[in-house]
Amino acid sequence: MTSDAFEPAHPTSRLGTLALLQDLDVRLQQIDHRVAHLGDREARAGIDTQLTAWGSAMRALEGRIADLERQQRRHEDEVARIESKRAQNTERLYESHLTSPREAEALTAEADALGRRQIEIEDRILDLMEQLEPLNSERDALAARQSEATSRRQDLDAAIAIAEREAETERNGVLVEREALVASADPELISVYEQRRAVARGEPVVGRLIGTTCSACHLEVPSVDHERIAHLEPDKLAECPHCGALLVR
Ligand SMILES: [Zn+2]
Repeated sequence: MTSDAFEPAHPTSRLGTLALLQDLDVRLQQIDHRVAHLGDREARAGIDTQLTAWGSAMRALEGRIADLERQQRRHEDEVARIESKRAQNTERLYESHLTSPREAEALTAEADALGRRQIEIEDRILDLMEQLEPLNSERDALAARQSEATSRRQDLDAAIAIAEREAETERNGVLVEREALVASADPELISVYEQRRAVARGEPVVGRLIGTTCSACHLEVPSVDHERIAHLEPDKLAECPHCGALLVR
């Protein structure tokens, strides 16, 4: 509680009730403000920004990897075709009774060409694998960072949910107090308070006169006003000449 908090000198006074009511409303505002500005919420938003950026980076990376893997598969398919062709070739070559010398020569030449082609493509496959290796490592590292951030985000979600539940409980407690206070108060006075509060934009509408100072605006009430207010009936409404707050005295 702040030093401005109202401590009822006369708990039964009509105006004193309004000051208590204002205290409760200030507490409700504070609870709402605290929940709206939880540090964990900011941290979670930071993680969301990070996750979005990492998501784009991951999509780009996976696109490059998929492209290289497609090229690799195409080359591997070609190697498989060459190998099968070479196997057929060898078979025919060894079935010598079916092969004329000229045909054997042609088959040998073809086998050599196929062998050279295979080496060339296998080199390309090795080259692609070398390109893929660092990209795959990068993808694994990024995935680990994403998963770690996602788990931190879940922890923050849980902490925010707990803080929200606690605030809700506290809020309900204040509301119960407020209802009891309103039920015990003069409805006309409550309606004056509510109307003023509705247009006050969170500024206090009730102030306690402490000596000659208004607790709502912390300014000194001029002695002529103070004199007049001091002589009013205790339940008569009086306003601070500076801020217009209803003065509890
Ligand atoms: Zn004032």
